[in-house]
Formats: sequence, structure tokens, C-alpha cells
Amino acid sequence: MDAPNPVNEQLRQLPAVDRLIAAAGGGDRVRWSLGAAARAVLEEARAALRAGGAPEPLETLAERTRERAAALERPFPRRVLNATGVVLHTNLGRAPLAPEAAEAVARIAAGYSDLELDVARGERGSRSTRIAERIRLLSGAEAALVVNNNAAGLLLAVDALAGGREVVLSRGELVEIGGSFRVPEILASSRARLREVGTTNRTHLRDYENAIGPGTALLLKVHRSNFEIRGFTAEVSLRELAALGARTGLPVIEDRGSGTFLDLRPSGIPEAEVWGGLREGADLVLFSGDKLLGGPQAGIVAGRATLVERMRTHPLARALRVDKLTLAALDWTLRALLEGEAEARIPVLRMLLTPLAALRERAERLAAELAAQGWKTSVEARASVVGGGALPDLELPGAVVRLEPSGSAAELATQLRAQDPPVIARIHQGALLLDPRTLDAAECGTLIAHLRRLID
Ligand SMILES: *Cc1c(COP(=O)(O)O)cnc(C)c1O
Repeated sequence: MDAPNPVNEQLRQLPAVDRLIAAAGGGDRVRWSLGAAARAVLEEARAALRAGGAPEPLETLAERTRERAAALERPFPRRVLNATGVVLHTNLGRAPLAPEAAEAVARIAAGYSDLELDVARGERGSRSTRIAERIRLLSGAEAALVVNNNAAGLLLAVDALAGGREVVLSRGELVEIGGSFRVPEILASSRARLREVGTTNRTHLRDYENAIGPGTALLLKVHRSNFEIRGFTAEVSLRELAALGARTGLPVIEDRGSGTFLDLRPSGIPEAEVWGGLREGADLVLFSGDKLLGGPQAGIVAGRATLVERMRTHPLARALRVDKLTLAALDWTLRALLEGEAEARIPVLRMLLTPLAALRERAERLAAELAAQGWKTSVEARASVVGGGALPDLELPGAVVRLEPSGSAAELATQLRAQDPPVIARIHQGALLLDPRTLDAAECGTLIAHLRRLID
């Protein structure tokens, strides 16, 4: 007989699932999460032993089981506090909705609605006409369409309008945004063919002109949402491209990424308004609902009616359509824009446009409260970025609280993420930076309470 294999022996000595559940505190009625957690922990323990790890005592396995069960039970997504000052933070769900928009969502979610019913006539209605009308009123566009997100808008546009033919795009605009949105890959997954023109840094009008032929379906311009090209550069403006489109009879589509119906230039936020693109001659503009617009995740398409109609009746439109919850949130956001004072009512705009003096005052107050708890704090001038693949170069003047723990800032950041609700903050040179731009008064109160518990 062979000598006993110590790993097999160690595997045999792992507790049975029931015993681990009992050790983790499972009583007569075992919670669903404890069973699932115990099985997962045992699976990990087996893998660790096979990989040469040391056996772990029952209590360690039980502790891990409890932690895992608690994690399984936690709702997802969870509310977090954004202390980074990045208003459109893709990892943190981009645009927070106004409370009224959230209430509209809750109201529609919990009952039946007239989503596809014309109540007055008692006939079938359309889920899209009312929202499209609001977008038309805001943008001056002939027609509009809402889909799941901007990526869906682009996919639908190129497939519906250029299926089997070519989409001409500058090599300087073959962008990747947020890791999963890559323009060439969207094109590749449609029936349209990408025709790249120009070079990374320089594209001229003649590059487009030379590429146009019988197989060309449309000219595409993609906003460089998250980077800039500097130095020896040349770019064809939307206006020039639109003129070329008009000369050659080709539609011009602008993927703006971020768009809003307000002119924010007086507030120092450049060229975001959607009708700018339409005015410059784009036949269609595409943009996200949850970037500068400040609404729910959605892709908005606005422009020429014949093109929108081809997209609306394309089979993919059904697969990419938005649900009633999105429509309810978007409808509130669009109405707020139509009614005015959107800068005060839409959280994204309110946060972006908060005056520096107000940010400084909020930072001073937060710093004073934390100092009173014994934390070492100071207030420093620091710009916030917009984020969300919007306006890469724009830095908004701001003020942050610099909190210097006696121990490690990374450790404090981890502890803050372990709170309920978790706080997400930036670390800079051994300190934690707390940016009041993205925290409201109640959230500041929660943050102060968290830090009172964590004082070192
Ligand atoms: C953000 C962005 C997208 C992707 O928009 P989603 O709504 O996230 O799908 C597409 N194009 C540009 C230029 C963008 O900035």
C-alpha cells in the first residue's frame, strides 16, 4: 500500500457543509445565504489545500462563511457616497437622478401605466412619441428616438443606415470609452463596414473626399470624449464634414457622447449643447442620457426624420428599446429642462455648476467638524474633473478637505469603504481627499458620523 497522501487526508478532514453552517451560527432555519456561502468556502478551502496551502481551523472557515453570507444578502446595487468630486463617475453609476425623477420611477414601477395605451381613445399607443416630442421641442430636431444607451444608438444607426455599406471615420476618432465601448468593435458587430481615413493625429477633408465612392453610406464623427490630441494635428470640423455630406448626398452622424439641451458655455462648460451639432449640419446627433443630460442611462438620437424612421423601424430597435422605468426618469428630466431652472433641479448640473465660494465654504465646514473630532484636516484648492467620458480637459475649480490620518491613508480609505453606506474617496500623497462637490448636506453628515467611529 502507498503511504497516505497528506492532501487527501487534509481534504477528508474538512468539515461537512452542515457542520460548517452550524459553526457559522446557522440555527434550525438556515438562511439561504449561509448554505451557499458554506459550500463556496469549502470549495475554496479544497482548492487551497490542493494548491499546497495549510489547513485552516473550523472557526476561520466559519468566520469566512459568515462574511460571505452577509455579502450575498446585501442588496445590489448599493448606495455609496461619492467623495471623489467626479460628478459623472462611471463606476459609481454616472448621473444620480433628482429625487422627483426617482419618485416618478418608483410610481411607475409599482403599478400599471399607460406605456403603450392612448388612454383617451382606449386604443393602443406608442411608448416613444411623447418622449420624442419633448426631445424635439428641446433640440429643434425633426425627430428623435431613445434606446438603451449611446452605444446602442450608434450600433442601431450604423446598422440601419449603412448595413452592407461603408461608414467613413477618421483614424483620430477610433476611440475607446470606459473600456467596453470601442467604436471599431461596434462597427464590426454591425453589418456596416468601417472605412478609416486620415491618420491618428491628422485627418483632412480630402481624406474623406478620396474615400467616398458608390459603397459609402454615411460620414461619422465621434467626439473624443476622454482624451485630447495635441501637437501636429488637423481635424475636419463637423461643419466642414456636414458641408461635404450635403455635397455628396451622404448623411453625417455625430456621436457626441455627452450632450445637454442647455448652453453651459456662460458657466465655463464648453460646447455640450446638442442643437450645436444639429446647427452645424449633422443629420443625426447621438448622446447619452446619463452624462451631462443628468438623466437615466439611455441613448438619445435626434435629427432628420427620414433617418430616425429607418432606425425606429429596424428590427434591432426592438432589442435596444428602453423600459418604462427609464422613460419615467427621462421624462421628468426632459420636463425639468423644458420648465426651466434645470441647473438647480438636475443634480449633475447643480453639482457641476456649484460656485467655488460655496464649495470652499462646504469644505471649511466639513474640515472644522472633522478637526473637532481630532482629525488632522486642511482645506485646499483642487479642481474636480467632470468624468464619464465627458469634456476630458475641463477642470472645474473646487475645494477639497485634505484629511491626514496618523496611519495609512489607504487603510483609512478601506475602512471608509467598509462602512454602510460605503464612502469612496481619493488618496493623494498620504492623505484622503474629500470633495464636497459630489456630497449633499445629509451625505456630509453621514461621512462625519463614519469618521467619528474611525478616529485613530
Ligand atoms: C460615453 C460615450 C459613448 C457611450 O455611451 P453609453 O451611453 O455609455 O453607451 C459613446 N460615444 C461617446 C463619444 C461617448 O463619450
